[in-house]
Amino acid sequence: MGFLESAVVDHRKSTTLTSRELLVWTGVVNDHPDCSAIVLTCMDKRFHSEISRFMRKEYGENKFYFVSLPGGVQSLLEKKRGASMRALDLAIGSFDKIDIVLINHSDCVAYGGLSCFNHDHDKERNFHRQQLLEARQKVAVEYPGKNLRTLFLSFHKDDDLLNIEITEIH
Ligand SMILES: [Zn+2]
Repeated sequence: MGFLESAVVDHRKSTTLTSRELLVWTGVVNDHPDCSAIVLTCMDKRFHSEISRFMRKEYGENKFYFVSLPGGVQSLLEKKRGASMRALDLAIGSFDKIDIVLINHSDCVAYGGLSCFNHDHDKERNFHRQQLLEARQKVAVEYPGKNLRTLFLSFHKDDDLLNIEITEIH
């Protein structure tokens, strides 16, 4: 089918769809309205594919919102309601049953990197644990009754390979 014919078919199709279907079809809204989680993590793209893989494994393909901002939970801890809280508002306002997943990571530049902790992994982990638990508490007050998860992503380099581990923080 040539471009012109397919455009005609597309046009006919567009006239038979409801407005919601039209939005889905044109890609304005996505075709996966059921969503079971929102993950808030850092904008550091070294870890995005691994975090996405973790979320797909836990919640399924296209079943979660992915919000990435500098420092992960850092912006949740600001006094002012920022972009991260607005993202949670939107996701939670759209879906009743939704898990809130908060992930911070090792060597986060927004926190000064690993060098800020004198390359002491335990010290760094403990600091992020405090940040995550504090953010968790704040989110629990804002959205009571939601399932909240806090996780820390650590990694080590094997030659050029990044070995990444994501563990629950309690
Ligand atoms: Zn970071």
